Amino acid sequence: MSKHQFQTEVTQLLDLMIHSLYSNKEIFLRELISNASDAIDKLNLLTLTDEKYKNLKVDKRIDISIDKENKTLTISDTGIGMNEEDLVENLGTIAKSGTKSFIQNLSGDVKKDSQMIGQFGVGFYSAFMVADKIEVISKKAGEDKAYKWISSAGAEYEILPAERETQGTTIILHMKKEEAVEFLNDYKIEAIVSKYSNHIPFPIYLEKTEEIEDEKRKEKKIEKKVEQINKASALWRMNKSEIKDEEYIDFYKQISHDSTDPLLWVHTNAEGTLEYSTLFYIPSTAPFDLFRVDYQPGVKLYVKRVFITDEDKELLPTYLRFVKGIIDAEDLPLNVSREILQENVILRKIKKASVKKILGELKKLKKRDEKKFKKFNETFGKVLKEGLYSDFENKEKILELLLFKTTKSEDYIDLDKYKENMKEGQKEIYYITGEDEGLLRNSPLLEKFKAKDIEVLLLDDEVDAIVMPMVTEYKGIPIKSVTDAELEENKEEKEKKEEENKKYSNFIEKIKEVLKDEVKDVKISDRLQESPSCVVFDKNDPDYQMQQMMKQMGQTNLPEPKPILEINPEHEIIKKVSENPDLTLIEDVAHLLLDQAKMVEGIKIKNLYEFSQRINRVISKAI
Ligand code: ADP
Ligand code: MG
Repeated sequence: MSKHQFQTEVTQLLDLMIHSLYSNKEIFLRELISNASDAIDKLNLLTLTDEKYKNLKVDKRIDISIDKENKTLTISDTGIGMNEEDLVENLGTIAKSGTKSFIQNLSGDVKKDSQMIGQFGVGFYSAFMVADKIEVISKKAGEDKAYKWISSAGAEYEILPAERETQGTTIILHMKKEEAVEFLNDYKIEAIVSKYSNHIPFPIYLEKTEEIEDEKRKEKKIEKKVEQINKASALWRMNKSEIKDEEYIDFYKQISHDSTDPLLWVHTNAEGTLEYSTLFYIPSTAPFDLFRVDYQPGVKLYVKRVFITDEDKELLPTYLRFVKGIIDAEDLPLNVSREILQENVILRKIKKASVKKILGELKKLKKRDEKKFKKFNETFGKVLKEGLYSDFENKEKILELLLFKTTKSEDYIDLDKYKENMKEGQKEIYYITGEDEGLLRNSPLLEKFKAKDIEVLLLDDEVDAIVMPMVTEYKGIPIKSVTDAELEENKEEKEKKEEENKKYSNFIEKIKEVLKDEVKDVKISDRLQESPSCVVFDKNDPDYQMQQMMKQMGQTNLPEPKPILEINPEHEIIKKVSENPDLTLIEDVAHLLLDQAKMVEGIKIKNLYEFSQRINRVISKAI
């Protein structure tokens, strides 16, 4: 007999399960059945691909039984089983780093936390919501010894030698008082199974108890019989016309561990040269790990209905990593290795067709249901955008789907709408990137656009700074950042500008001299209307957002590009200061023109103390 300590995070999790999570307890059964099914999947694949297991006869099934007297619920499977090491590893620790950090960062909001919990591979432990003691008796396929794992939550568990005839796992839940009343009931178990586990591909049997009245002897007889309580069909292989919406939705919940309804599903049974079935879902809420590098991929690969893997991130492109579902290929060998998967021609073809299909269905949704699509855009638009730089082939299709905030609309619009809104003579689509919508809306860089009544897309997602430079046109119309735009000028404007350049050339030289360490250049601006100055970056330099991202990614030794300061010759400050002989004043104003222009773009200025001193000197002179 040996006692073991739970890993700290497990203790935390168990504590949360027992004391805070009251809603939706019934999911414990879904979790245990899903583990049983995974275990049968694993063994199934081994018997088909590994010599060592080829002769093992496996009766693939899951059995549930109720013992009212002893208040236990038992779930048993004929899967791969666990040995002593596996028990310690799987039922004593939390292996996935993502899950661990999730637990450390739980919000404390019981409702929110409990909704999320199902997603995190903490499935087994959820049984402690309904049981105060759990026994797991397991025997690993191909091994002789069986073990029993026992725990009443808390900080420790025990592992003992045990007996079990065949490979597989039996889980005995000693139900809590109230939960015994609620769950130790045939109808209840049947209802939960048909809701969450109907399409588990293996039969689930329930040992039912029936009271039969014997008329002659006037007495009741208890009879037990075993009945299959799930469909055990692979939903994705069924004919679309035979599947009800409800079934699609329930199946989504089963595979995603998400309790909200999906936004959309796409079911394909392809026949002909390439045979496969795919069933994809777009969730309506984002998973917690959407922006983590170690996110859990949402698509499972099957070959001829045999589960192969749910760990392959290449089944769909990363910009579709929010998609959940199944790919079931007919023409792949069962023992495909991971390396082969990456380069497999069949899978590549399925992937390509799937992307096309998913993007196509999203386009249909956009036309059909504006509200739903907006929700999709808010939840996953940022991720989809990544495709603009990773999927050259589908760039235009992705652009077509994206919705943007703009200077002229409160609501999101798409690029087609932008095209419709274009002013006469406008030949390009314009955008501005930055961290903050508020700052963007008021950016001096937009003044000329506002004066000319030209709409500008406001891009405030972090990813925009990276992807947008890759986007050069939409349906033949060039797309440009406002900093690269050269708004057409008429002859008059041009002449005026040249004159001003001459008029201010001395002043500009002076400012250049003062700011020589801080700017790349100083120029007369043609984009300002109200502000005295603005900063832009040279076309060949990364802009500020890009610089920040490069730093975040660890590229700290790059030289920091200097901005170009542009000044507005129409502005009173420029007019007056350029004629003022006070050299300290010119120096202060030069710095202030630069610093405040940086600030309104959200760029950090380096010496705040100096900045405030300069302001004070200028104010003193003004008073
Ligand atoms: P997850 O299923 O997401 O990995 P769980 O907490 O549900 O997380 O299960 C933890 C691990 O315990 C599983 O990954 C599996 O290795 C093991 N396990 C749980 N139940 C069984 C079972 N019935 N048969 C074999 N292994 C199991
Ligand atoms: Mg599980």
